[in-house]
Amino acid sequence: MTRSIIKAAEWTLGPETGEGAPQGIYSAVCLTCGAKAQPTDDERLPVEVWALEHTGLNPGHRQFKAVAETFWRVTPAEGNPYREIDAPSAQAAV
Ligand SMILES: [Zn+2]
Repeated sequence: MTRSIIKAAEWTLGPETGEGAPQGIYSAVCLTCGAKAQPTDDERLPVEVWALEHTGLNPGHRQFKAVAETFWRVTPAEGNPYREIDAPSAQAAV
């Protein structure tokens, strides 16, 4: 987790943990022909298997660009006025 003070308020950067948010989306592209693996949420293994199968079918295609996307959320740290504004009890009172 990374913390930073922006305009006198402290913010914290961390992974997005909201409902439905994947920890990561994995995919790969063959650098020889441009074929793309079907992207998968949270699981790298199906993309790795795809690359192995792709090379098995095309023995000259051995280089891939592997892509792992992750998602972040910035939240107000202790003492940041937005922390109270974002609190569920404050939203219920609005
Ligand atoms: Zn290929």
